[in-house]
Amino acid sequence: MSYSAIWSENKNLNAVEKTKLKKDGLDIINEIIDKYSKTGYESIYPEDIGLFKWAGVYEQKPKNGYFMLRVRMTSGIMNAAQAKTLADIAEKYGRGIANITTRGSVQFHWIKIENIPDIFYKLKSCGMSSFEACGDCTRSIVGNPLTGIDREELIDTSSIVKEVNNFFLLNRDFSNLPRKYKISISGSIYNTAHAQINDISFTPAIKTVDGEDVLGFHVWLGGGLSSTPHLAKKLNIFARQSDVLKITEAVCIIFRDNGYREKRTRARLKFLLDDWGVEKFESKIKELTGPLLKSGIDKTVSWNASYYYGIHPQKQKGKSFVGLNIPFGEITARDLAELASIADACGDQKLRTTLSQNIIISGIDDNAVPQLIKKNIFTRLPIMPKNFLGYTVACTGNEFCNLAIVETKNRARQVTSYLDKKIAMEIPVRIHFTGCPNSCGQKHIADISLQGGRIKTKDGIKDAFTLWAGGTLEGCGHFAEKIKDLTDADEVQFILEKMLLFYKKNSLPGENFTSF
Ligand code: SF4
Repeated sequence: MSYSAIWSENKNLNAVEKTKLKKDGLDIINEIIDKYSKTGYESIYPEDIGLFKWAGVYEQKPKNGYFMLRVRMTSGIMNAAQAKTLADIAEKYGRGIANITTRGSVQFHWIKIENIPDIFYKLKSCGMSSFEACGDCTRSIVGNPLTGIDREELIDTSSIVKEVNNFFLLNRDFSNLPRKYKISISGSIYNTAHAQINDISFTPAIKTVDGEDVLGFHVWLGGGLSSTPHLAKKLNIFARQSDVLKITEAVCIIFRDNGYREKRTRARLKFLLDDWGVEKFESKIKELTGPLLKSGIDKTVSWNASYYYGIHPQKQKGKSFVGLNIPFGEITARDLAELASIADACGDQKLRTTLSQNIIISGIDDNAVPQLIKKNIFTRLPIMPKNFLGYTVACTGNEFCNLAIVETKNRARQVTSYLDKKIAMEIPVRIHFTGCPNSCGQKHIADISLQGGRIKTKDGIKDAFTLWAGGTLEGCGHFAEKIKDLTDADEVQFILEKMLLFYKKNSLPGENFTSF
Protein backbone atom coordinates (compact mmCIF):
# COMPACT_ATOMS: atom_id res chain seq x y z
CA MET A 1 0.00 0.00 0.00
CA SER A 2 1.43 3.43 -0.90
CA TYR A 3 1.91 5.99 1.84
CA SER A 4 -0.76 8.27 0.38
CA ALA A 5 -3.19 5.32 0.38
CA ILE A 6 -2.49 4.89 4.10
CA TRP A 7 -3.23 8.57 4.79
CA SER A 8 -6.45 8.42 2.81
CA GLU A 9 -7.81 6.08 5.49
CA ASN A 10 -7.37 8.84 8.06
CA LYS A 11 -10.83 10.38 8.48
CA ASN A 12 -9.49 13.49 10.20
CA LEU A 13 -7.17 14.79 7.49
CA ASN A 14 -7.12 18.57 7.19
CA ALA A 15 -8.39 20.27 4.04
CA VAL A 16 -4.92 20.72 2.51
CA GLU A 17 -4.21 17.01 2.96
CA LYS A 18 -7.46 16.12 1.19
CA THR A 19 -6.44 18.33 -1.74
CA LYS A 20 -3.00 16.71 -1.87
CA LEU A 21 -4.57 13.24 -2.03
CA LYS A 22 -6.33 14.26 -5.22
CA LYS A 23 -3.28 15.83 -6.86
CA ASP A 24 0.44 15.86 -6.14
CA GLY A 25 1.68 19.42 -5.63
CA LEU A 26 4.30 18.95 -8.35
CA ASP A 27 1.59 18.28 -10.94
CA ILE A 28 0.68 21.95 -10.77
CA ILE A 29 3.93 22.96 -12.52
CA ASN A 30 2.84 21.55 -15.87
CA GLU A 31 -0.72 22.73 -15.35
CA ILE A 32 0.55 26.28 -14.91
CA ILE A 33 2.62 25.98 -18.09
CA ASP A 34 0.15 24.08 -20.28
CA LYS A 35 -3.17 25.31 -19.00
CA TYR A 36 -3.49 28.26 -16.64
CA SER A 37 -0.91 30.50 -18.31
CA LYS A 38 -3.07 30.22 -21.45
CA THR A 39 -6.56 30.28 -19.93
CA GLY A 40 -5.77 33.11 -17.48
CA TYR A 41 -6.19 34.01 -13.82
CA GLU A 42 -9.97 33.77 -13.75
CA SER A 43 -9.87 30.15 -14.89
CA ILE A 44 -7.78 28.86 -11.97
CA TYR A 45 -9.61 26.38 -9.70
CA PRO A 46 -9.54 27.60 -6.08
CA GLU A 47 -8.12 24.23 -4.91
CA ASP A 48 -5.27 24.53 -7.40
CA ILE A 49 -4.24 27.98 -6.16
CA GLY A 50 -3.12 26.36 -2.89
CA LEU A 51 -0.94 23.93 -4.85
CA PHE A 52 0.81 26.76 -6.74
CA LYS A 53 3.23 26.87 -3.79
CA TRP A 54 4.92 23.71 -5.07
CA ALA A 55 5.88 25.76 -8.11
CA GLY A 56 7.23 28.46 -5.78
CA VAL A 57 4.24 30.69 -6.50
CA TYR A 58 1.86 32.36 -4.00
CA GLU A 59 -1.15 34.51 -4.76
CA GLN A 60 -0.31 38.00 -3.56
CA LYS A 61 -2.58 40.39 -1.71
CA PRO A 62 -5.28 41.49 -2.58
CA LYS A 63 -5.87 38.41 -4.75
CA ASN A 64 -6.62 40.29 -7.93
CA GLY A 65 -4.46 38.47 -10.43
CA TYR A 66 -0.88 38.93 -9.23
CA PHE A 67 1.51 36.41 -7.70
CA MET A 68 4.73 36.25 -5.70
CA LEU A 69 7.35 33.91 -7.13
CA ARG A 70 10.25 32.67 -4.96
CA VAL A 71 13.50 31.27 -6.34
CA ARG A 72 15.30 28.44 -4.54
CA MET A 73 18.82 29.28 -3.41
CA THR A 74 21.27 26.83 -1.86
CA SER A 75 23.44 28.44 0.80
CA GLY A 76 22.45 31.74 -0.85
CA ILE A 77 25.02 31.36 -3.61
CA MET A 78 24.35 32.32 -7.23
CA ASN A 79 26.68 32.96 -10.11
CA ALA A 80 26.76 36.26 -11.99
CA ALA A 81 24.75 34.89 -14.92
CA GLN A 82 22.05 33.68 -12.53
CA ALA A 83 21.99 37.05 -10.76
CA LYS A 84 21.61 38.79 -14.13
CA THR A 85 18.70 36.48 -14.94
CA LEU A 86 17.02 37.36 -11.65
CA ALA A 87 17.53 41.05 -12.40
CA ASP A 88 16.05 40.51 -15.84
CA ILE A 89 12.96 38.76 -14.39
CA ALA A 90 12.51 41.55 -11.83
CA GLU A 91 12.78 44.18 -14.57
CA LYS A 92 10.49 42.48 -17.02
CA TYR A 93 7.84 40.98 -14.76
CA GLY A 94 8.33 42.22 -11.18
CA ARG A 95 8.02 46.00 -11.55
CA GLY A 96 11.78 46.34 -11.24
CA ILE A 97 12.17 45.00 -7.69
CA ALA A 98 13.48 41.76 -6.15
CA ASN A 99 13.41 40.87 -2.46
CA ILE A 100 15.85 38.80 -0.43
CA THR A 101 14.16 36.71 2.25
CA THR A 102 15.35 35.65 5.69
CA ARG A 103 16.31 32.28 4.17
CA GLY A 104 18.43 34.00 1.55
CA SER A 105 15.98 33.23 -1.26
CA VAL A 106 15.04 35.82 -3.86
CA GLN A 107 11.41 36.59 -4.61
CA PHE A 108 9.44 38.75 -6.99
CA HIS A 109 6.02 40.33 -6.75
CA TRP A 110 3.54 41.47 -9.39
CA ILE A 111 3.93 38.29 -11.43
CA LYS A 112 1.09 37.47 -13.82
CA ILE A 113 0.05 33.92 -14.59
CA GLU A 114 0.71 34.33 -18.31
CA ASN A 115 4.35 35.27 -17.59
CA ILE A 116 5.18 32.34 -15.33
CA PRO A 117 6.23 29.84 -18.07
CA ASP A 118 8.79 32.33 -19.37
CA ILE A 119 10.11 32.84 -15.84
CA PHE A 120 10.38 29.05 -15.35
CA TYR A 121 12.21 28.89 -18.67
CA LYS A 122 14.62 31.71 -17.81
CA LEU A 123 15.40 30.13 -14.44
CA LYS A 124 15.94 26.70 -15.94
CA SER A 125 18.21 28.14 -18.63
CA CYS A 126 20.62 29.38 -15.96
CA GLY A 127 20.36 26.33 -13.67
CA MET A 128 17.90 27.81 -11.18
CA SER A 129 14.36 26.92 -10.16
CA SER A 130 11.44 28.15 -8.14
CA PHE A 131 10.07 24.63 -7.70
CA GLU A 132 9.43 23.59 -4.11
CA ALA A 133 10.61 26.98 -2.85
CA CYS A 134 7.27 26.88 -1.00
CA GLY A 135 4.75 24.11 -0.20
CA ASP A 136 4.77 20.97 1.95
CA CYS A 137 8.13 19.78 0.74
CA THR A 138 11.87 20.26 1.17
CA ARG A 139 12.61 23.98 0.92
CA SER A 140 15.78 25.85 -0.10
CA ILE A 141 18.70 24.65 1.98
CA VAL A 142 20.33 27.34 4.10
CA GLY A 143 24.07 27.13 4.65
CA ASN A 144 27.21 29.13 5.07
CA PRO A 145 27.07 31.83 2.38
CA LEU A 146 30.86 31.99 2.58
CA THR A 147 31.34 28.30 1.94
CA GLY A 148 34.48 27.70 -0.07
CA ILE A 149 36.03 31.08 0.77
CA ASP A 150 35.61 31.20 4.54
CA ARG A 151 38.80 31.27 6.60
CA GLU A 152 36.86 29.98 9.57
CA GLU A 153 34.97 27.21 7.88
CA LEU A 154 35.97 23.70 8.95
CA ILE A 155 34.12 21.95 6.13
CA ASP A 156 33.43 23.30 2.65
CA THR A 157 29.80 22.24 2.38
CA SER A 158 29.26 23.19 -1.30
CA SER A 159 29.15 19.61 -2.60
CA ILE A 160 27.12 18.28 0.36
CA VAL A 161 24.47 20.99 -0.01
CA LYS A 162 24.32 20.38 -3.75
CA GLU A 163 23.94 16.63 -3.26
CA VAL A 164 21.12 17.02 -0.73
CA ASN A 165 19.36 19.65 -2.86
CA ASN A 166 19.56 17.53 -6.00
CA PHE A 167 18.27 14.48 -4.18
CA PHE A 168 15.12 16.15 -2.89
CA LEU A 169 14.28 18.59 -5.69
CA LEU A 170 11.27 17.31 -7.69
CA ASN A 171 11.55 13.94 -5.94
CA ARG A 172 7.98 12.66 -5.77
CA ASP A 173 8.78 10.46 -2.79
CA PHE A 174 9.03 13.68 -0.78
CA SER A 175 6.62 16.06 -2.48
CA ASN A 176 3.82 15.44 -0.01
CA LEU A 177 5.10 16.05 3.51
CA PRO A 178 2.80 17.06 6.38
CA ARG A 179 4.33 20.55 6.09
CA LYS A 180 7.57 22.20 5.06
CA TYR A 181 10.92 20.55 5.81
CA LYS A 182 13.72 23.07 6.35
CA ILE A 183 17.35 21.99 6.15
CA SER A 184 20.44 23.85 7.38
CA ILE A 185 23.99 22.67 6.62
CA SER A 186 27.01 24.72 7.63
CA GLY A 187 30.67 23.96 8.24
CA SER A 188 31.35 27.35 9.84
CA ILE A 189 32.32 27.63 13.50
CA TYR A 190 29.89 30.56 13.76
CA ASN A 191 26.57 28.74 13.28
CA THR A 192 26.00 30.74 10.11
CA ALA A 193 22.88 28.84 9.07
CA HIS A 194 20.82 29.32 12.24
CA ALA A 195 20.87 25.64 13.20
CA GLN A 196 18.38 25.88 16.07
CA ILE A 197 15.46 27.14 13.96
CA ASN A 198 15.46 24.52 11.20
CA ASP A 199 13.79 21.11 11.05
CA ILE A 200 17.16 19.44 10.60
CA SER A 201 20.59 21.04 10.89
CA PHE A 202 24.22 20.11 10.65
CA THR A 203 26.94 22.08 12.46
CA PRO A 204 30.63 21.18 12.55
CA ALA A 205 32.00 18.65 15.01
CA ILE A 206 35.07 16.47 15.33
CA LYS A 207 35.39 12.88 16.47
CA THR A 208 38.27 10.48 16.85
CA VAL A 209 37.48 7.38 14.85
CA ASP A 210 39.97 4.49 14.77
CA GLY A 211 42.65 6.81 16.12
CA GLU A 212 42.05 9.50 13.52
CA ASP A 213 40.33 12.86 13.94
CA VAL A 214 37.38 13.04 11.57
CA LEU A 215 35.58 16.28 10.75
CA GLY A 216 31.84 15.87 10.49
CA PHE A 217 28.68 17.30 12.01
CA HIS A 218 26.45 17.50 15.02
CA VAL A 219 22.83 16.83 14.05
CA TRP A 220 20.03 19.05 15.36
CA LEU A 221 16.34 18.29 15.01
CA GLY A 222 12.96 19.93 15.39
CA GLY A 223 13.62 23.67 15.31
CA GLY A 224 11.10 26.11 13.90
CA LEU A 225 9.49 29.47 14.57
CA SER A 226 5.86 30.51 13.82
CA SER A 227 3.43 31.06 16.69
CA THR A 228 4.76 27.99 18.57
CA PRO A 229 8.54 28.33 18.33
CA HIS A 230 10.85 25.45 19.17
CA LEU A 231 14.62 25.42 19.47
CA ALA A 232 16.12 22.38 17.78
CA LYS A 233 17.50 19.60 19.98
CA LYS A 234 20.93 18.04 19.48
CA LEU A 235 20.93 14.34 18.71
CA ASN A 236 23.57 12.01 20.07
CA ILE A 237 24.82 11.39 16.55
CA PHE A 238 28.04 12.26 14.78
CA ALA A 239 27.37 12.56 11.06
CA ARG A 240 30.32 11.89 8.84
CA GLN A 241 30.26 14.16 5.80
CA SER A 242 29.11 11.18 3.76
CA ASP A 243 26.21 10.56 6.21
CA VAL A 244 24.48 13.91 5.72
CA LEU A 245 22.23 12.88 2.85
CA LYS A 246 21.17 9.56 4.32
CA ILE A 247 20.33 11.13 7.71
CA THR A 248 18.42 13.97 6.04
CA GLU A 249 16.51 11.44 3.94
CA ALA A 250 15.78 9.17 6.93
CA VAL A 251 14.38 12.08 8.96
CA CYS A 252 12.29 13.17 5.99
CA ILE A 253 10.85 9.65 5.59
CA ILE A 254 10.01 9.53 9.30
CA PHE A 255 8.38 12.94 9.09
CA ARG A 256 6.47 12.05 5.91
CA ASP A 257 5.11 8.81 7.33
CA ASN A 258 4.51 9.81 10.95
CA GLY A 259 4.09 13.60 10.96
CA TYR A 260 0.66 14.91 11.86
CA ARG A 261 -1.81 15.53 9.06
CA GLU A 262 -4.87 16.42 11.09
CA LYS A 263 -4.20 19.99 12.21
CA ARG A 264 -1.92 22.23 10.10
CA THR A 265 -0.80 23.94 13.29
CA ARG A 266 0.62 20.63 14.59
CA ALA A 267 2.06 19.35 11.34
CA ARG A 268 5.72 20.46 11.66
CA LEU A 269 8.44 18.01 12.62
CA LYS A 270 8.95 19.74 15.98
CA PHE A 271 5.63 18.42 17.30
CA LEU A 272 6.44 14.83 16.36
CA LEU A 273 9.84 15.15 18.04
CA ASP A 274 8.19 16.59 21.16
CA ASP A 275 5.83 13.65 21.41
CA TRP A 276 8.37 10.96 20.62
CA GLY A 277 11.39 12.35 22.45
CA VAL A 278 14.94 12.42 21.13
CA GLU A 279 15.82 8.79 21.94
CA LYS A 280 12.90 7.27 20.07
CA PHE A 281 13.53 9.55 17.08
CA GLU A 282 17.20 8.62 17.04
CA SER A 283 16.46 4.91 17.06
CA LYS A 284 13.96 5.35 14.20
CA ILE A 285 16.65 7.17 12.21
CA LYS A 286 19.09 4.32 12.78
CA GLU A 287 16.50 1.77 11.65
CA LEU A 288 16.68 3.49 8.28
CA THR A 289 20.34 4.46 8.07
CA GLY A 290 22.02 1.59 9.86
CA PRO A 291 24.50 2.24 12.71
CA LEU A 292 25.72 5.80 13.25
CA LEU A 293 28.49 7.12 15.48
CA LYS A 294 27.70 8.84 18.77
CA SER A 295 28.18 12.63 18.80
CA GLY A 296 31.65 14.16 18.68
CA ILE A 297 33.05 17.42 20.02
CA ASP A 298 31.15 20.56 19.07
CA LYS A 299 33.30 22.95 17.03
CA THR A 300 30.85 25.85 17.00
CA VAL A 301 32.24 28.78 18.97
CA SER A 302 29.51 31.41 18.62
CA TRP A 303 26.75 32.71 16.40
CA ASN A 304 26.98 35.05 13.43
CA ALA A 305 23.50 36.49 12.93
CA SER A 306 24.37 36.58 9.23
CA TYR A 307 26.07 39.97 9.01
CA TYR A 308 29.22 40.34 6.90
CA TYR A 309 29.57 44.09 6.36
CA GLY A 310 32.86 45.56 5.28
CA ILE A 311 35.95 44.11 3.61
CA HIS A 312 37.30 40.74 4.74
CA PRO A 313 40.15 38.46 3.68
CA GLN A 314 39.23 35.10 2.20
CA LYS A 315 40.82 31.72 2.68
CA GLN A 316 42.32 32.22 -0.82
CA LYS A 317 45.46 34.34 -0.48
CA GLY A 318 45.15 37.79 -2.06
CA LYS A 319 41.35 37.66 -2.30
CA SER A 320 38.69 39.49 -0.32
CA PHE A 321 34.95 39.53 0.03
CA VAL A 322 32.79 42.56 0.61
CA GLY A 323 29.52 42.48 2.54
CA LEU A 324 26.97 45.15 1.70
CA ASN A 325 23.60 46.25 2.96
CA ILE A 326 20.41 45.77 0.96
CA PRO A 327 17.97 47.76 3.12
CA PHE A 328 15.24 45.34 4.28
CA GLY A 329 16.20 42.97 1.47
CA GLU A 330 14.65 45.11 -1.26
CA ILE A 331 16.84 45.62 -4.33
CA THR A 332 16.11 47.16 -7.71
CA ALA A 333 16.63 45.11 -10.85
CA ARG A 334 19.16 47.70 -11.98
CA ASP A 335 21.25 47.42 -8.80
CA LEU A 336 21.12 43.63 -8.87
CA ALA A 337 22.29 43.63 -12.47
CA GLU A 338 25.10 46.03 -11.59
CA LEU A 339 26.23 43.86 -8.66
CA ALA A 340 26.23 40.87 -11.02
CA SER A 341 28.41 42.81 -13.47
CA ILE A 342 30.79 43.76 -10.64
CA ALA A 343 31.00 40.10 -9.55
CA ASP A 344 31.67 39.16 -13.15
CA ALA A 345 34.35 41.75 -13.80
CA CYS A 346 36.05 42.09 -10.41
CA GLY A 347 35.11 39.04 -8.35
CA ASP A 348 34.76 35.27 -8.58
CA GLN A 349 31.53 35.62 -10.59
CA LYS A 350 29.43 34.93 -7.51
CA LEU A 351 26.94 36.83 -5.39
CA ARG A 352 25.96 35.47 -2.01
CA THR A 353 22.72 36.33 -0.21
CA THR A 354 22.61 36.28 3.57
CA LEU A 355 19.92 35.32 6.10
CA SER A 356 19.87 38.98 7.16
CA GLN A 357 18.59 39.90 3.66
CA ASN A 358 21.92 41.28 2.44
CA ILE A 359 24.51 40.45 -0.25
CA ILE A 360 28.21 39.53 -0.38
CA ILE A 361 30.50 39.96 -3.39
CA SER A 362 33.41 37.53 -3.25
CA GLY A 363 36.73 36.75 -4.90
CA ILE A 364 37.93 40.33 -5.35
CA ASP A 365 41.68 40.95 -5.66
CA ASP A 366 42.80 42.63 -2.45
CA ASN A 367 44.42 45.49 -4.33
CA ALA A 368 41.25 46.10 -6.41
CA VAL A 369 39.01 46.57 -3.37
CA PRO A 370 39.79 50.25 -2.57
CA GLN A 371 38.84 51.36 -6.10
CA LEU A 372 35.84 49.06 -6.26
CA ILE A 373 34.15 50.37 -3.14
CA LYS A 374 34.25 53.92 -4.51
CA LYS A 375 31.58 52.96 -7.03
CA ASN A 376 28.34 54.87 -6.73
CA ILE A 377 26.26 51.80 -6.05
CA PHE A 378 27.89 51.46 -2.63
CA THR A 379 26.36 54.73 -1.52
CA ARG A 380 22.93 53.18 -2.08
CA LEU A 381 23.98 49.72 -0.85
CA PRO A 382 26.62 50.63 1.72
CA ILE A 383 29.31 48.28 2.94
CA MET A 384 29.27 50.01 6.34
CA PRO A 385 25.60 50.96 6.80
CA LYS A 386 24.22 53.03 9.62
CA ASN A 387 23.70 50.96 12.73
CA PHE A 388 19.94 50.62 12.77
CA LEU A 389 19.39 50.57 9.01
CA GLY A 390 22.06 47.90 8.63
CA TYR A 391 20.83 45.57 11.35
CA THR A 392 17.09 45.65 10.75
CA VAL A 393 15.15 42.87 9.06
CA ALA A 394 11.59 43.15 7.76
CA CYS A 395 9.26 40.49 6.37
CA THR A 396 6.97 41.12 3.39
CA GLY A 397 4.12 42.64 5.41
CA ASN A 398 0.67 43.61 4.23
CA GLU A 399 1.78 45.23 1.01
CA PHE A 400 1.71 41.76 -0.57
CA CYS A 401 1.21 39.09 2.10
CA ASN A 402 -2.30 37.76 2.63
CA LEU A 403 -1.60 36.81 6.22
CA ALA A 404 -0.09 40.14 7.25
CA ILE A 405 -1.82 42.39 9.73
CA VAL A 406 0.37 45.45 9.22
CA GLU A 407 2.79 47.02 6.76
CA THR A 408 6.43 46.32 7.64
CA LYS A 409 9.10 47.56 5.20
CA ASN A 410 8.12 51.22 5.06
CA ARG A 411 7.60 51.24 8.80
CA ALA A 412 11.05 49.70 9.29
CA ARG A 413 12.54 52.36 7.00
CA GLN A 414 10.88 55.17 8.94
CA VAL A 415 11.77 53.81 12.40
CA THR A 416 15.41 53.03 11.59
CA SER A 417 15.92 56.39 9.95
CA TYR A 418 14.59 58.05 13.13
CA LEU A 419 16.77 55.93 15.42
CA ASP A 420 19.88 56.46 13.30
CA LYS A 421 19.41 60.22 13.62
CA LYS A 422 18.83 60.07 17.37
CA ILE A 423 21.14 57.40 18.80
CA ALA A 424 24.72 56.33 18.20
CA MET A 425 25.23 52.79 19.47
CA GLU A 426 28.67 51.30 20.03
CA ILE A 427 27.41 47.84 19.15
CA PRO A 428 24.71 46.99 16.64
CA VAL A 429 21.22 46.18 17.88
CA ARG A 430 19.33 43.78 15.65
CA ILE A 431 15.69 44.80 15.14
CA HIS A 432 13.16 42.59 13.32
CA PHE A 433 9.77 43.69 11.98
CA THR A 434 7.22 40.97 11.33
CA GLY A 435 3.74 41.58 9.98
CA CYS A 436 1.94 38.81 11.88
CA PRO A 437 2.65 36.00 14.37
CA ASN A 438 3.87 33.68 11.59
CA SER A 439 7.36 34.99 11.99
CA CYS A 440 8.94 35.02 8.52
CA GLY A 441 10.62 38.11 9.98
CA GLN A 442 12.07 35.81 12.68
CA LYS A 443 11.05 37.88 15.65
CA HIS A 444 12.23 35.19 18.06
CA ILE A 445 15.92 35.60 17.31
CA ALA A 446 16.26 39.40 17.32
CA ASP A 447 17.55 41.70 20.04
CA ILE A 448 14.31 43.67 19.67
CA SER A 449 11.29 42.58 17.63
CA LEU A 450 8.06 44.14 16.60
CA GLN A 451 5.12 41.91 15.72
CA GLY A 452 2.22 43.48 13.87
CA GLY A 453 -1.32 43.68 15.24
CA ARG A 454 -4.26 46.09 15.45
CA ILE A 455 -5.27 48.32 18.32
CA LYS A 456 -8.37 50.32 19.19
CA THR A 457 -7.55 53.97 19.83
CA LYS A 458 -9.66 57.08 20.29
CA ASP A 459 -9.07 57.73 16.59
CA GLY A 460 -10.29 54.28 15.58
CA ILE A 461 -8.56 50.96 14.79
CA LYS A 462 -4.85 51.45 14.03
CA ASP A 463 -1.75 49.45 13.14
CA ALA A 464 0.16 48.42 16.22
CA PHE A 465 3.07 46.25 17.35
CA THR A 466 3.83 44.07 20.32
CA LEU A 467 7.44 44.45 21.46
CA TRP A 468 9.76 41.52 22.12
CA ALA A 469 13.37 41.41 23.28
CA GLY A 470 16.28 39.11 24.01
CA GLY A 471 16.36 36.65 21.10
CA THR A 472 19.64 34.97 20.19
CA LEU A 473 21.04 31.77 18.73
CA GLU A 474 24.21 31.94 20.82
CA GLY A 475 24.82 28.60 22.51
CA CYS A 476 21.69 26.52 22.35
CA GLY A 477 19.66 29.69 21.72
CA HIS A 478 17.05 31.73 23.57
CA PHE A 479 13.88 33.11 22.06
CA ALA A 480 12.83 36.73 22.46
CA GLU A 481 10.18 37.34 25.08
CA LYS A 482 7.24 39.69 24.90
CA ILE A 483 7.94 42.86 26.89
CA LYS A 484 5.13 45.15 25.80
CA ASP A 485 1.59 44.63 24.59
CA LEU A 486 0.14 46.20 21.47
CA THR A 487 1.40 49.74 20.99
CA ASP A 488 0.26 52.24 18.38
CA ALA A 489 2.62 51.81 15.41
CA ASP A 490 3.17 55.57 15.26
CA GLU A 491 4.54 55.51 18.83
CA VAL A 492 6.95 52.65 18.31
CA GLN A 493 9.98 54.69 17.36
CA PHE A 494 9.74 56.77 20.54
CA ILE A 495 9.41 53.69 22.74
CA LEU A 496 12.41 52.11 21.02
CA GLU A 497 14.38 55.31 21.48
CA LYS A 498 13.72 55.25 25.25
CA MET A 499 14.56 51.55 25.49
CA LEU A 500 17.78 51.93 23.58
CA LEU A 501 18.94 54.97 25.51
CA PHE A 502 18.26 53.11 28.76
CA TYR A 503 20.21 50.09 27.47
CA LYS A 504 23.05 52.30 26.30
CA LYS A 505 23.30 53.98 29.69
CA ASN A 506 22.86 50.94 31.92
CA SER A 507 24.21 47.85 30.15
CA LEU A 508 27.52 46.40 31.26
CA PRO A 509 30.30 45.86 28.70
CA GLY A 510 29.43 42.90 26.50
CA GLU A 511 25.90 42.64 27.93
CA ASN A 512 23.38 41.91 25.19
CA PHE A 513 19.62 42.07 25.15
CA THR A 514 19.28 38.45 26.31
CA SER A 515 21.19 39.02 29.51
CA PHE A 516 20.09 42.63 30.04
FE1 SF4 B 1 3.39 37.49 5.88
FE2 SF4 B 1 3.31 37.10 8.50
FE3 SF4 B 1 5.22 35.93 7.03
FE4 SF4 B 1 5.30 38.55 7.43
S1 SF4 B 1 5.48 36.97 9.02
S2 SF4 B 1 5.58 37.53 5.46
S3 SF4 B 1 3.16 39.05 7.44
S4 SF4 B 1 3.05 35.53 6.92
